[in-house]
Amino acid sequence: MKRPDERPPLFGTNGIRGEPNADLTPDFALQIGKSIGTYFKDGTIAMGRDTRDTGPMIFNAVSSGIMSAGKDILDLGILPTPAIQFYCKINRIPGVVITASHNPPRFNGIKCIAADGTELPRNQEEIIESIYYGRSFIQAAWNNCGRVRTITDAVERYIEGIMQQVNTEAIRTREFRVIFDAGNGAAYSSTPELLRRLGCSVVTLNANPDGKFTSRNSEPRPENLKDLINVVSGGKFDLGIAHDGDADRAVFIDSTGHFVDGDITLSLIVKSVIKPGDRVVTPISSSDALDEICAAGEAELIRTRVGAPLVSRTMIEKKAKIGGEENGGIIYGPHQYCRDGAMTAALVLNLMATRKAGLKELVSEIPEYHIHKLSTDRKVEWETIKRGILGYASGMKTDTSDGLKIFLKDGWVLVRPSGTEPIIRIYGESRNMARARDIAQEYQALIDGIQEGASAL
Ligand code: MG
Repeated sequence: MKRPDERPPLFGTNGIRGEPNADLTPDFALQIGKSIGTYFKDGTIAMGRDTRDTGPMIFNAVSSGIMSAGKDILDLGILPTPAIQFYCKINRIPGVVITASHNPPRFNGIKCIAADGTELPRNQEEIIESIYYGRSFIQAAWNNCGRVRTITDAVERYIEGIMQQVNTEAIRTREFRVIFDAGNGAAYSSTPELLRRLGCSVVTLNANPDGKFTSRNSEPRPENLKDLINVVSGGKFDLGIAHDGDADRAVFIDSTGHFVDGDITLSLIVKSVIKPGDRVVTPISSSDALDEICAAGEAELIRTRVGAPLVSRTMIEKKAKIGGEENGGIIYGPHQYCRDGAMTAALVLNLMATRKAGLKELVSEIPEYHIHKLSTDRKVEWETIKRGILGYASGMKTDTSDGLKIFLKDGWVLVRPSGTEPIIRIYGESRNMARARDIAQEYQALIDGIQEGASAL
């Protein structure tokens, strides 16, 4: 039984996530809204959501709470998370996004945005949590309660912002044939609109906003993008593009139907934008290819713990130009300090246009590395697993800044407990694909052995 003084954190690595009417109830969302409205000093808060069916229910509960604290709501409607963040940035107001990103449709979430457009730092989420647990809400008098205003131009501002960052003339001249798989998600109309303005002929797949994500799983992995890959394989397109549910990530299919890993896209874009002296930020989970690329381009590579908000914050602190994760989440500083799927798509088209090359050709210039990802159920304490692995890998160079990274002669392995699920994630990297898989499998078997041994005690 939970003791009444237990105050578990509510915000995870990407906001509050839960199943509506199970743990994420409207009552809870209302209290969170009151806490957010009490916390933010600004009188106006922007709000938007993705396409999930439970979006309006959670949105209305959170916005009621915020208004009861006397703050006004700008309702931006359904739009990509980075479009909401961009709106916050250019108007210097905080925001709240109702989304569960790539999670299955049964989930939803609440994510807070600071007035600079970045995800709210953890120490500020903790203040919101303490307001929630202390029930120390501001309650405005009837004539000071917040009001709602509907905003219709947030997507327009966002598209204009992206177009300012690329060579639109060069892209238009190429008249790219692009197919875009929206996966029923939040960018169902904004990304096709951006592509059309960049002179592309655009075919869309699953570009209907369907809150049950009936077309495909929202995580943009190759196994979920079979339809897109099949169509591109027919040879009629220069590029295939897909986002996750809230469109802060983008992945690409080259003109031959080959899925390009997020790690490779990150390397490509970093390589194309860095100048000597620039700084690049990425977590310890992304490829060593970036070390090579940054060394060759005389840029400084800064490694962080895993998590996009941390990469964003570090980019701001270190004045970095570009950063990102290995899953297709790319952060382009000159635009805004958050992952942005449509910005990423525009940067890839910009590169193809200015280099007058196809994606396949550009990818062939990137040093070849492979990351193999596995996971296994976590059955014992992480510290027990960590001790077991350190014993096995004694004498090897390690990094314990986030989970446990072990540097091998011909690659590395990163083992870390998931922040959201009871699993251990295992990443193995090597220049050779089979070796990367072997590394990941070796450590998966090792962890399973450690857990069996520990639970048998
Ligand atoms: Mg996302």
